[in-house]
Amino acid sequence: MSRDGRSRTRTYAAGALALLAFATACGDNGGGGTTAPAGTSAASGTPQPAAAAPSSAAATPGAAPAGANAAAWAKWNLTPLPPAPAPPADKPIKLERTGPVPVFSDVKTTDKVVFITIDDGAEKDPKFVEMLTDLKVPISMFLTKDIVKNDYGYFKPLQALGNHIQNHTVDHPVMSKLSPDKQKSEVCDDQAALTQQYGTAPLLFRPPFGDGANTPTLNTAVQQCGPRAVVLWRESMQIHDMQYQAGDKKLKPGDIILAHFRGPKELKGATMTQMFGDLLARIQEQGFSVARLEDYIQAPAS
Ligand SMILES: [Zn+2]
Repeated sequence: MSRDGRSRTRTYAAGALALLAFATACGDNGGGGTTAPAGTSAASGTPQPAAAAPSSAAATPGAAPAGANAAAWAKWNLTPLPPAPAPPADKPIKLERTGPVPVFSDVKTTDKVVFITIDDGAEKDPKFVEMLTDLKVPISMFLTKDIVKNDYGYFKPLQALGNHIQNHTVDHPVMSKLSPDKQKSEVCDDQAALTQQYGTAPLLFRPPFGDGANTPTLNTAVQQCGPRAVVLWRESMQIHDMQYQAGDKKLKPGDIILAHFRGPKELKGATMTQMFGDLLARIQEQGFSVARLEDYIQAPAS
């Protein structure tokens, strides 16, 4: 009897994951309260790997990208991340046009990359647009209609940088508590609004809190509304550090990271750009670059 150990992309630990997700995603927790049990405490003590002095932006005039890049990162007091490798020609995740949608929280790749996803859309800080314009770090945005509808326009310059807009329901419910019809309208109505506003239909869906991700009801709702995959995560950004599902608290190639559009009210006074800068620093310390999630996913042939 061979055990099927290869479906790494499927999340079978639904219960545990949902619990963890509930604690970390979009919730009220400001980052401290929910830390994992056995606690050598978080990475505050991690030694900085004394990397390239930021001031050595000895940008030779011709060396455009690297030099300009270093200056942009220095502006935000950050050490540049290694450049991401070229997107794989053969995509690790291939989506089908019909049938059940896959559920994944990471991408099978040996590239030393991670993917950043940012959810909900509450905080609309112009400084964050400036930061991403400077740094060109790819993100995927999972937007909730009722949270973004007061200013759809905020996300357009972020989209113009090449970042994709994805589906995260109309009003951020706990999906498994809803009837099948209501689950469907949560996905379909967000899909319609985002498609209308941003001119392109979301390919991916993320349920609030990760809840219900592996239920047939949710899967059916997603199929009926257009997205072709359910995307979860491996790490969840808090204020200064990530909460890891892995016991070793280390990033792995292909991990999907969850963050939120949050501001000082949710971040104990920290701003969106401080949070995001800290996220990039944690990624940089571990030697990863950030790639675009959609570059590792093959959309269905239409
Ligand atoms: Zn959310």
